[in-house]
Formats: sequence, structure tokens, C-alpha cells
Amino acid sequence: MMLSAGLAGIVQRRRQAAGGPAKEAGLLPAPWRVGFSRLWWRFADQALQPLDSDLALLELCAQPLATWPVQLDLSITDLQNSLLADGDLSEFAEQGSRLARHDVEAEWTENQVHLALREAAAANGSSDEEIGEAYAVLRRYLIDHAVVADREVRGLERRFPATDNSGQTHVHRLISLAYHSRPARAPQEYILCPSCRNVLADASACCATAGCPGGSPETWTAVPTAVVYEQHRATRKYIHDPGLVEARIIDALSVDSLAPTVRVTPYPGVDALDVLIEFLRPGVGGVPEVAETWGVDAKDQVSARLLGRGFTWPQAPACDRRYLALPAHRAVQPGYISDLEAELDGRVAGVHVIDENQLVARAKERAKELAA
Ligand SMILES: [Zn+2]
Repeated sequence: MMLSAGLAGIVQRRRQAAGGPAKEAGLLPAPWRVGFSRLWWRFADQALQPLDSDLALLELCAQPLATWPVQLDLSITDLQNSLLADGDLSEFAEQGSRLARHDVEAEWTENQVHLALREAAAANGSSDEEIGEAYAVLRRYLIDHAVVADREVRGLERRFPATDNSGQTHVHRLISLAYHSRPARAPQEYILCPSCRNVLADASACCATAGCPGGSPETWTAVPTAVVYEQHRATRKYIHDPGLVEARIIDALSVDSLAPTVRVTPYPGVDALDVLIEFLRPGVGGVPEVAETWGVDAKDQVSARLLGRGFTWPQAPACDRRYLALPAHRAVQPGYISDLEAELDGRVAGVHVIDENQLVARAKERAKELAA
């Protein structure tokens, strides 16, 4: 994890150097140096010849961890990863560096976006319920829109009009943090993946979003007055893409046929959880009452071990059953669920790991049982 965080620092500096006048690079990032020295001792402990330079370690980082000469305390699945892929941080290293809590550019953007989301919701609601609803709509907006024209943003601003001290709407601030703005006066054609709505390079390109079922690319035309907004890499990686699994669960349980017996709340308690599922039954005078409540936290991460290590369950809302839902593409990876459960054991009690499709099937079954 320290190495990942150090690598993140190195990759970020390299990007900055490539993007403008080279700044004084100075020493290698502190977590890299810590990671290097820990690894040095591990080599020594295992009676191996320690690495003699940063360059040698950097070369090792491009190799799968399973091929490293030193034994590492990682699962068999995690060992298949390398830390660097094509000179960039691998998904595994990104997750590792985030767990080490070292500030990288992406994490900074992600935090800024989350903060702006909360502020926009808080400013546009006068009760906890209204704030919660505004949060859920705005968060879902980021999941549904990888690219958006300024006209549409103005529609969102009309719906959530609260402004900050400078007179700018909170929604506008959120969009300008989560997206790059690009001047454009004429209509712009985009090719989108029909399943995840990410932008594809061209009509023959395959969708590269993890676990996305893809489909025939769709052409979508943005009609801006002056600007189109395209999602930042960090927004896409940490809010949009992982949000797809939540969106699928929410949509599958929000269908009309279930409405009398299942109430779905996206992001209850301003994101304490991803989904709250309440099973309803007729109460006094026909007013529906809650018979049972399930909480769902959905997680789409490459390493089960690292996910388990960083996982916590919130104090509220109270839930009769608690589920950590995995997207189908993670759940089918050999060893993923067992690694995750092993890591959660003794750390978080009473949380069941479940595949997204099983969760939806089980919720539908439970609704039937409770209505009978
Ligand atoms: Zn896709």
C-alpha cells in the first residue's frame, strides 16, 4: 500500500512535468521511500539480496506481484496484479494507494466533488428528507451523465436553484468540479455505450468500463449554447463507474410492480448507505407500514482483500439485514467472495456478502413472503 501511494505520487509528478514547465521534483515521495525500506527489510528477512536502487524497484512494479522474488502477504488473486500498467498506476495500485490515505490528485478531485454534492443538497433542502432527496438526485445525475450540455445543466439549476455567497448556484459549482468544460457552440456528436453511458472513442470501440455488458454504441448529440461538460477521470473512476452497480440495484427494485410492497431509498441519510430497502405491509386503516428493512452498500473494487480491510458499516439507519453487494463481474472472480469474507471476519459483524443479481432476486422473494 505504501508503495502504491508512493507510485501514485511519482506518476502524478511525471504527469505534471509533462504538462507544463518542470517543477523542482526534489526527493521521491515519502511513502515510496517508506515502501522501499519496508521491502528492503522483507528481502533481508527472507535471506534474499535486497534491491539496490529505486530504478530496480520501479522495474519490479511493472511485473505481476506473483513474479516478485520476495514473498508478499497478499491473496493469490491480488498477486496476479502489477502496480504499474503501461507506465500508469494499475487499478490495484490505485485502490492500494487510496487505502494508504495518501492524497493523490484523483482523491482530491473525488473529495471536492463529494463535498460539493453535499453542499448542493444541503442548500437545496429545508428538511432532512428534502436534503436527502436532492442528494440522491444529484448523485444519480453524475452516474447517468458522463457528458452533458450547458442547457441541461441550466435545467438542473432551475430544479435546484440555491446559490452561494458569490451568486453561483451550488449545482453549477458541482458540475464545474466534476466535469471539464469545453467551449462549443455547435451541436456535438458523442458515441456512448448504451449500458454505462460512458463516451466511446468511435463506433467500433468496445466499452472498457469494468463489468459493463456493453451493447451497440449509440450516437448522442449534445446541443450546447456555449459549453459542453465532460466528466473528469476521477469522477468517472470513483463516482460514475462504481455507481453503476447501485443504479442497477435501485432501478431493478424501483419497478411499478414492486411499488406496493417495496420502498427503495437511494443513498439514505445523505449517503450513509447506497440503498435502503423497506418491505411494506398494510397497517392500521390501510396505511402501509414497514415490516422489514434491509441496508445495502454496493462496492466495485478490484481487490477483495483491500476492500475488506477498508470496509465499515454505519451506525444508522437501523437495518434488519445488512448486505455488501458486489457487481456480478467481481462476484464471479474465483476466490473474490472468500477473500472478502475472510478479511471481513472479526472486523465487521452481521454483514452478508452478496452478488447484485442474488440481492435483487432475494428482495423480490422477501416482498412476496411478507405480503402473503
Ligand atoms: Zn459500457
